Amino acid sequence: MNKPKLDHIGIAVEDLEASIEVYRNLGFEVESVDDVPGFGVKVAFLPMESGSVELVQPVADDSAMAKFLEKKGEGIHHLCFEVYDIRAELKRLEAAGVQLVDKVPRHGVHGTLVAFLHPKSTGGVLIELAQKG
Ligand code: ZN
Repeated sequence: MNKPKLDHIGIAVEDLEASIEVYRNLGFEVESVDDVPGFGVKVAFLPMESGSVELVQPVADDSAMAKFLEKKGEGIHHLCFEVYDIRAELKRLEAAGVQLVDKVPRHGVHGTLVAFLHPKSTGGVLIELAQKG
């Protein structure tokens, strides 16, 4: 079995542009900035040697990200691991008793399919799975 591959670290931010500047000062470059209407957010991807930092700013007040920021403030929001067959992986995890936020994958950016696992089942860490398009 292949080792799990970290695709990105999701970070909740209030102001995408201001946060991008913080990471630019740390030596990061912006690969892309996209709206993700299905999640009520806009995101910036900043690649690392391996994987990326994903800065996520809510644009819809009723989005899960807006609620997260209200409750916890800015900071690390989720870890995303790449999978090759997200539907099969969700089936396998559900059968193993892992609580899923998304039983059916949703559309992320750049043609990816994504799904979140419930932090109750993963030691308090919100985990996203992503299948690249
Ligand atoms: Zn993510």
